[in-house]
Amino acid sequence: MRPDVLVVGAGIVGAASAFRLAETGLKVLVLEKEAAFAQGSTGRSAAGVRVQFSEPLNVLLSYHSILEYQNIPEAAYRPIGYLFLVPEALREAQDEALATQRALGVPVEKLSLGEARSLIPFREEVLAYATYGPMDGVIDPHGVTAYYLREARRLGAEVRFSEALRSARREGGVWRVETPGGRYEAPFLLLCTGAWTGEVGERLGLEIPIYPVRRMVYATAPTPFPHAFPLTIDLATGFYLRSEGPRVLLGRSNPQEPPGFSEGMDWGWLGPTLEAGLSRFPFLEGLALDRRASWWGYYEMTPDANPILGFVEEGLLVAAGFSGHGVQQAAMVGRLMAEEVVHGEARSLDITPFRLDRFRQGRFLKEKGIV
Ligand SMILES: Cc1cc2nc3c(=O)[nH]c(=O)nc-3n(C[C@H](O)[C@H](O)[C@H](O)COP(=O)(O)OP(=O)(O)OC[C@H]3O[C@@H](n4cnc5c(N)ncnc54)[C@H](O)[C@@H]3O)c2cc1C
Repeated sequence: MRPDVLVVGAGIVGAASAFRLAETGLKVLVLEKEAAFAQGSTGRSAAGVRVQFSEPLNVLLSYHSILEYQNIPEAAYRPIGYLFLVPEALREAQDEALATQRALGVPVEKLSLGEARSLIPFREEVLAYATYGPMDGVIDPHGVTAYYLREARRLGAEVRFSEALRSARREGGVWRVETPGGRYEAPFLLLCTGAWTGEVGERLGLEIPIYPVRRMVYATAPTPFPHAFPLTIDLATGFYLRSEGPRVLLGRSNPQEPPGFSEGMDWGWLGPTLEAGLSRFPFLEGLALDRRASWWGYYEMTPDANPILGFVEEGLLVAAGFSGHGVQQAAMVGRLMAEEVVHGEARSLDITPFRLDRFRQGRFLKEKGIV
């Protein structure tokens, strides 16, 4: 096959993009460095999907993606809801985010603390109110990736594993890519390489400001009591939890975690995580942790915690750097990348705010809804 587009990376973003590109009739070849799909951040996410963001484009990317996931059986979409507990100190910022969400017409409710307590018991100290997204919930990122790759293949796309991009250069109107196993060329090269995109950029002689930051998800053992907690975020500390079957999943981003590809569980961060959790949710006291059910992965961070989308050079596109919220945006990003290739510009949504040149122009759009 002589591909029109080389998609690098078979996580959820590469898979969705491959499918939407193949749907337009383009010949697509996906190159993935691992021996299987979804081995990067996609297979290690907390699987949450939510419309509750502060940046309008994040709200819309998630909203349209959730609508799509609702119709994919493999996504196993469960609208368990996201509950944000808002401290007095962040009232104004959250009011603004809520106004943005409402103006865009996405479903988000403002709850009193009493109403929120009917969803999960918590201590009210320093809190002002809560917001709840009834459309928010969880999906199966692995199932979605498998679905998109299967559909892409049905439309003629090829997916090759254990094929790491080593180098790439533009020559004679095409991108020439080398992997340990072979050489490939195509007019378009789309990098969906997640946390590795900064590193891949260096191989192309480009500075793409996307870097890995390790994050933990701690899992309790099955609890002695039944529960069905929404994904609940205490904005006072960044601590979050949600039910997963009989277990509770817990997390909190460590602001001191240095960027880089450090590996393994950070059990030292469990203490500060639990400290924040217990102060808000005393029912966590005494719950046993299941070390083997806990996991870690990389957030793919950018300087403003928003992704980099679209063309960065002739024939070269990036769809990466979701800073910990790419699972919930992949569906729409796949459509936009196909439009970008076919029409020269994404059409369904204006992705200008998330283009790479924003950093050169000093347009940093700090997303406040990142945990
Ligand atoms: C602990 C944790 C919790 C999270 N929770 C959520 C959540 O609740 N909701 C949410 O929306 N998001 C969440 N995320 C973020 C989410 O997982 C990512 O934003 C998303 O998976 C990004 O998808 P991707 O396809 O861009 O990247 P990845 O899934 O990382 O895929 C990139 C792929 O590129 C491949 N690759 C890299 N370099 C090369 C190369 N040189 N050649 C070929 N292939 C290469 C990698 O092997 C990988 O398969 C979480 C992440 C973590 C770590």
